[in-house]
Amino acid sequence: MDTKKLTFEFTAHTYDRFPVEIVGGSGCHLTDETGKTYIDLGSGIAVNSLGMAFKEWQDAVIGQILRFQHCSNLYYSAPCAKLAEMLCARTGYKKVFFANSGAEANECAIKAARRFSFLKHNDENHGTVITLKNGFHGRTITTLSATGQDSLKTGFGPLTPGFVHADPEDASSVRRFAEKGDCAAVMIELIQGEGGVNVLTPGFVAEIVSIAKEFDLLVIADEIQTGNGRTGKLFSYMHYGFVPDIVTTAKGLAGGLPLGAVLLGEKVKDVFSPGTHGSTFGGNPIACAGAISVLSALTDELLAGVTKRQKLIVDALSDAPGVSEISGMGLMLGISCARPAKEIIAQCIENGVLVLSAKEKVRLLPPLNIPIDDLMKAVNVLKEALAG
Ligand SMILES: *Cc1c(COP(=O)(O)O)cnc(C)c1O
Repeated sequence: MDTKKLTFEFTAHTYDRFPVEIVGGSGCHLTDETGKTYIDLGSGIAVNSLGMAFKEWQDAVIGQILRFQHCSNLYYSAPCAKLAEMLCARTGYKKVFFANSGAEANECAIKAARRFSFLKHNDENHGTVITLKNGFHGRTITTLSATGQDSLKTGFGPLTPGFVHADPEDASSVRRFAEKGDCAAVMIELIQGEGGVNVLTPGFVAEIVSIAKEFDLLVIADEIQTGNGRTGKLFSYMHYGFVPDIVTTAKGLAGGLPLGAVLLGEKVKDVFSPGTHGSTFGGNPIACAGAISVLSALTDELLAGVTKRQKLIVDALSDAPGVSEISGMGLMLGISCARPAKEIIAQCIENGVLVLSAKEKVRLLPPLNIPIDDLMKAVNVLKEALAG
């Protein structure tokens, strides 16, 4: 069977794929159809947070498959309950809603914010959500509308109304939208991932938090990519010393299975009542069992290891030829490079290392537990490619 040919012929042309077919893997090592192995610095875009074939995760997932695979949200099931409890215990949030993806988690957060505003004003005229230019919140029509990148939106109108985009370098632009009086929430990525691994400054975030307080707006942190240990803390807001009203996450949560979660704080914990929101697959017991094993593995020691690995990468590459700047936090790093990212990625693939891009940067999202020697081996390959 020619996978590449079939994919090209029979799947919608939404992806510009690298010429590699993955057939297996273990830890940070992936194997392609020719038997060649790669060190993976992408984790399936921050999804396989503990690498391939992580033993506890496999046991948890297979164990749940053997018990039952799905039961609908009309009944109770233990993995969903246990995972919600664990997330609340680790964060202080009050309630969790489970979805299947990042976009769906964000849809829920937006609904929660609008519902909160509706319950406060008793009308639907205060539901505008302020997001940031260059941000990314998903591909559904509403999360695309929330996304502050025109290039992604062209040709998909009419979009969902009620989104405005402020400047991530200028908090006064957030204030100007807030002053119009029709807003429910500010929704931000603390590190803009798809937008180029741009870290919001603590000063900017502090100003947003203070504007939100002044105008009684909810703060929603989109931690789809930054959550679940990726930045060296369980969630990236924990680096900033504030607590968002709502946090969304997905990518790394279930270690490779589709699962999204929305964490609802004190103000919004009761905005939903039966029938106001839902999902057929959301909280699927297999995905939740996987997530429980991931969350259990995200100990303080593992999180410290994420920061340690970040330092090793930055030390090795920050003054390297062809590198002008490294942005990001933990194991979510963007490298501004002299050569086109596409060429660097191709050379890395040639030499057995998988890296990603974000805008013009090379982006690294390795498994959080990648062995140091494999990491440094891969970084050396990347260093060579960066130098050109
Ligand atoms: C990936 C991502 C999304 C979308 O997640 P999907 O699971 O692809 O729907 C939303 N927001 C951010 C910040 C992301 O990185």
